[in-house]
Amino acid sequence: MARSKEPSFRESVDLMFNRAVALMDLPPGLEEKIRVCNATYTVRFGVRLRGQIQTFTGYRSVHSEHMEPVKGGIRFSLGVNQDEVEALAALMTYKCALVEAPFGGSKGGLCVDPREYDAHEMEQITRRFAYELIKRDLIHPSQNVPAPDMGTGEREMAWIADQYARMNTTDINARACVTGKPLNAGGISGRVEATGRGVQYALREFFRDARDMQKAGVTGSLDGKRVVVQGLGNVGYHAAKFLAQEDGAKIIGIIEHDGALFDENGLDVDAVRHWIVGHGGVAGYPKAAHHADGSAVLEADCDILIPAALEGVIHMENAPRIKAPLIIEAANGPITAGADDILRAKGTVIIPDMYANAGGVTVSYFEWVKNLSHIRFGRMQRRQEEARHQLIVDELERLSKHLGDQWSMTPDFKQKYLRGADELELVRSGLDDTMRIAYQAMRDVWHGRDDVEDLRTAAYLVSIDKVAKSYQAKGL
Ligand code: GLU
Repeated sequence: MARSKEPSFRESVDLMFNRAVALMDLPPGLEEKIRVCNATYTVRFGVRLRGQIQTFTGYRSVHSEHMEPVKGGIRFSLGVNQDEVEALAALMTYKCALVEAPFGGSKGGLCVDPREYDAHEMEQITRRFAYELIKRDLIHPSQNVPAPDMGTGEREMAWIADQYARMNTTDINARACVTGKPLNAGGISGRVEATGRGVQYALREFFRDARDMQKAGVTGSLDGKRVVVQGLGNVGYHAAKFLAQEDGAKIIGIIEHDGALFDENGLDVDAVRHWIVGHGGVAGYPKAAHHADGSAVLEADCDILIPAALEGVIHMENAPRIKAPLIIEAANGPITAGADDILRAKGTVIIPDMYANAGGVTVSYFEWVKNLSHIRFGRMQRRQEEARHQLIVDELERLSKHLGDQWSMTPDFKQKYLRGADELELVRSGLDDTMRIAYQAMRDVWHGRDDVEDLRTAAYLVSIDKVAKSYQAKGL
């Protein structure tokens, strides 16, 4: 069976890394130093729950400390294991380098099914795990800064931040120990939507270049494009919603753990999400056809496929049947190295995970900076900006009095121009800029080098080069 030859997640990341470094001219030994994971800490701890002690296993892996703090989410899932955490930590290193977030790579995970415990129990478990990591500086504003990932969100990040503050009562930068916090606990506007927003900005940048579209054999713009999304969690939901509501894309398929919904005319993303939250899955959703076998929809005829759930969902067995000409990896590692070879040979264009889902860590970076500067973005400038705009508007109005009616401003322009940017607008602007610049760096390599045939290799080349330079600057 083809699947038995399937590499593990970490092997997949290493294989893709190796393919890229073979095209580079790194000093001897540096390639190995960059590839390997520096350290993985495993902890087993007990929590008294429902009258008995339950033991949990957790990990925090540090892939590269060429920049500190190291950064990366904490995942709560029964599938968490060392191989997975190390693969995800490595991807964080490359991701941060690519989008110029000044961090090394790390990742954490706890083997737990959050659905099996109530909020109070989850708080006990999370705080205990955080305690173990904080004790060893594996959560620390200048050493290691976690964030949400699968199975975690604002709630868990608030508990972690509070746990750190309790254990470090005089640390003025305590809040910067973790990102993805709720706004009222030191978070930043736009962090929850950030990864999905980044996927949207990535696709917009792709559609700005005729050469890129030609490679995938697509034309036009995002308007009317038929999109299939796998996983309507935080990332998939926001990506699908923004693409549908702001770019005119049609979300024709949504795949979840209990099957898929399909409608050629486009699904109502908010209504589906609402249904999933209320019913635990897509089954029974009344306004679209339900396919019990979700994997068939993954192979449906569409323009853009967005895997936004787990790693390894596109593998050597199903890769030959994937019809989408363009895949954007909103999840980490959704395509195995074997499947990547098959898809590349078919001419499928893949916008790789380390770039496509970097919106999350980009806005985490903004949050960390906000915490360290102890001030909300825009607080100093907003009204001053508005006052200066008002000056121009007043002057234009004065002039227009002499020039007659045809020179008057549209009320809409006046309203829009006068409003100074708030934090959310600034965050989106910073994210958009980041996603464009990183894409352009990949694109230059993709089109500029004859030996680079895909965006993933281009992404690795750009990021490994940055990591290598920072190691060399350190004298390593
Ligand atoms: N868990 C997210 C990722 O895989 C976010 C990491 C972060 O914000 O530090 O990129």
